[in-house]
Amino acid sequence: MSNVVVVGSYNQDFVWTTDQLPAPGATRLGTFAGGPGGKGFNQAVAAARAGARTTFITGLGADDTAAGARLLATAEGIDLRDEVHAGLATGTAGIFVDASGRNVIVVAPGANAALSSGFVRCQADAFGSARVVLAQLEVDAEAVQAALDAAGAAGALAILNPAPANAPTTDTMLAVADVLTPNETEFAAMLARHEGREVDPDTLAACPNAELHALCRALAPRATVVITLGAAGAFVSHGDSLRGDGASAYRVPAEPAKAVDTTGAGDAFSGALAAALARATTDAPFADAVRFATRFASRSTERHGAALAMPRLSELIASG
Ligand code: ATP
Repeated sequence: MSNVVVVGSYNQDFVWTTDQLPAPGATRLGTFAGGPGGKGFNQAVAAARAGARTTFITGLGADDTAAGARLLATAEGIDLRDEVHAGLATGTAGIFVDASGRNVIVVAPGANAALSSGFVRCQADAFGSARVVLAQLEVDAEAVQAALDAAGAAGALAILNPAPANAPTTDTMLAVADVLTPNETEFAAMLARHEGREVDPDTLAACPNAELHALCRALAPRATVVITLGAAGAFVSHGDSLRGDGASAYRVPAEPAKAVDTTGAGDAFSGALAAALARATTDAPFADAVRFATRFASRSTERHGAALAMPRLSELIASG
């Protein structure tokens, strides 16, 4: 099996569904569903279920939620490396969803924000056998940078999923990442931050390939940029650092899906892309890994939830 190391957040999601979002001071009846989440854990589960031997490096509190995280990681076959912060709670997200699917969310990062670069660097054995390292921006920026640097030192591919959009990427992150996997909003936020270019994220799916490619090359000259476009699939712009397969900019359509909940589709995509790239031979077309990720992500939209809604490689193989 190929090795993927994911460095990122673990959250316990608390999801209440009610007909109408309550106004301040109001009380409403609803239904409740809880489950594990956090972009880091979602992507680690995606990578593991997509067939990669997966290590997940995160920060946890010294609480019952952390104990639950360890049980879940074991059940998924994930090698969990958690830095325990006794004075902090494990990350949580409170999510209220109304009948039309609109939501309001409060995230308490807790121990995620305290994940240290030193703890990340200490996992040298995991990085040493990694083919791909995958990080997001829900943990401390120095821990993210340590993960990307460790990938480089180990000769592994460094993938940065620059999410959420309001968490800043740094020039140093963009300089060392081999692959970036923003959605449209995250891509627009990076362009504004690094290039001073204001683009409407809703226009990106219809943007001509050459124009989108030029924006990607200006933003991150070295990295291959894969912009996920929801039901429109993904756009790929190859940089200097990675094998291409002829075309330097192209689109991969989404796999048709009977989508019921697209929460975590981006996490499914990044985790599956990491797994596919980790098992790919050096001359395999990058587009094959992107096609696998779009298939995997489309299946994840056909059930409710985030981490536990990830499909398994066996399901994808069975469905052809
Ligand atoms: P989220 O924030 O909800 O986790 P995202 O905005 O980061 O998602 P998207 O671009 O919406 O990520 O989706 C990621 C990938 O999932 C897409 O590139 C596509 O392959 C797949 N996908 C998303 N929505 C659909 C859909 N309705 N039908 C089929 N595939 C989908």
